[in-house]
Amino acid sequence: MAEYDFDLFTIGAGSGGVRASRVAAAHGARVAVAEEYRVGGTCVIRGCVPKKMLVYGSMFAEELGHADNYGWTIEGKSFDWAALRNFVNADVDRLEGLYGKTLASHEVEVFAERATITGPHGVKLASGREVSAKYILVATGGWPAMPDFPGAEHCISSNEVFHLEEQPKCLMVVGGGYIAMEFAGIFNALGSEVTVVNRTDRILRSYDEQIVERMLHIAMGRGIDFKMHSQIQSVEKLDDGCLSVDLGGANPVKVDQVLIATGRKPNSAGLGLENAGIELGEGGEIPVDEYNRTSCESIYAVGDVTDRVQLTPVAIREGHAFADTVFGENPRTIDYTAIPSAVFSQPPLAGVGLTEAQAREQYGNIKVYSSDFRPMKNIFSPHAERGLYKMIVEATSEKVLGVHMIGPESPEILQVAAVAVKAGLTKQAFDDTVALHPSMAEELVLLK
Ligand code: NDP
Repeated sequence: MAEYDFDLFTIGAGSGGVRASRVAAAHGARVAVAEEYRVGGTCVIRGCVPKKMLVYGSMFAEELGHADNYGWTIEGKSFDWAALRNFVNADVDRLEGLYGKTLASHEVEVFAERATITGPHGVKLASGREVSAKYILVATGGWPAMPDFPGAEHCISSNEVFHLEEQPKCLMVVGGGYIAMEFAGIFNALGSEVTVVNRTDRILRSYDEQIVERMLHIAMGRGIDFKMHSQIQSVEKLDDGCLSVDLGGANPVKVDQVLIATGRKPNSAGLGLENAGIELGEGGEIPVDEYNRTSCESIYAVGDVTDRVQLTPVAIREGHAFADTVFGENPRTIDYTAIPSAVFSQPPLAGVGLTEAQAREQYGNIKVYSSDFRPMKNIFSPHAERGLYKMIVEATSEKVLGVHMIGPESPEILQVAAVAVKAGLTKQAFDDTVALHPSMAEELVLLK
């Protein structure tokens, strides 16, 4: 008889949990995973994947808007939110199925219910069943942080935005981060009136300021209204179903929906961690060491619940490293430097490495190369929007410290530039590379 029911019990079947479970199983572990909602987690079910599909859907509006410049006449064009929403959600169902199949093919037992920790090796399922495991992995992700003001219950988060019955005619987006900028872009492109309410005059704080400034300029040019230094005081639901938002000014603002995008907090409440002596951090995160181990020897945690870097590919790496370390006799840690990231705003922006301000602070002596150009694609568009690419280098060695860009397809281009930054290449390596013409990416090897 085995000492424990399972070698590994994973709580949460999101990106990190699924990767860890499948790799642990491939290493020969007997694995179970509990998921109280849907297999796939935030990224697949209500995050990156459906968001990106909505971005694609909304970009159609822009293309169709100037199709006549390309010689295309499109009569009777109209947009049906429900059709886009249903298509996106059907694909989410498909992906959820694929994730389930991956777990099944690795003989990972899935419990479609909530699990809580009863001790260093014990888990209790919502059904009442208790199971034991040699190791427990907490991969429960994050959850939207909703501010507390009268009427907050009338507002939605990114969890609900994928399921709206109707496209809002007037949408207020609260926050100035990733989710705010992405959904402001989507609904603006689809024709909604969009107002962004932000508590300071800084948005996308972790990105290069000049790139963000360009994004703001373009977004305002496209009709997004930004109310900086503003905060919601209260929200009232009106008889016609609309919302009246008090921003502290003379007149309340009337909108159809208020989307709160003020960050995400670790999903750690009520997990029973205290039963294993694990204390949460100030923000509710589970503290772990470099091997993802908590203060309890047999319990590990990966992904957003640890609040290190809230990005899917990072959670996946952490999950994989955990499984290799514990079950694959291959102890591995994650290198958190030069992680590329992007905001799928319209246009998108992307960055890797140090921003100009960070590099100046850390290195003092830096040089900045840039290209401010009008992408050929935008010649056909009514928006005379310009792209901006920046490269930050250490002044003496010319080692590239960071690359930052805004413009069409910039996340696609930045992924490759991130390889160069990670490899520690110099500006000379870019200069030595022949341009691929005509492309937007060629600007990267022509920076002045
Ligand atoms: P972000 O952390 O990106 O931004 C939060 C925003 O809300 C900031 O502008 C912040 O302002 C503001 N804010 C925070 N608290 C309050 C408050 N109490 N009242 C008013 N404003 C407030 O969070 P998101 O919710 O947009 O996204 C959560 C995380 O999910 C991101 O950090 C990212 O890691 C991940 N994500 C990644 C995406 C991608 O990779 N493309 C897409 C979507 C999400 P301030 O700057 O002043 O603190």
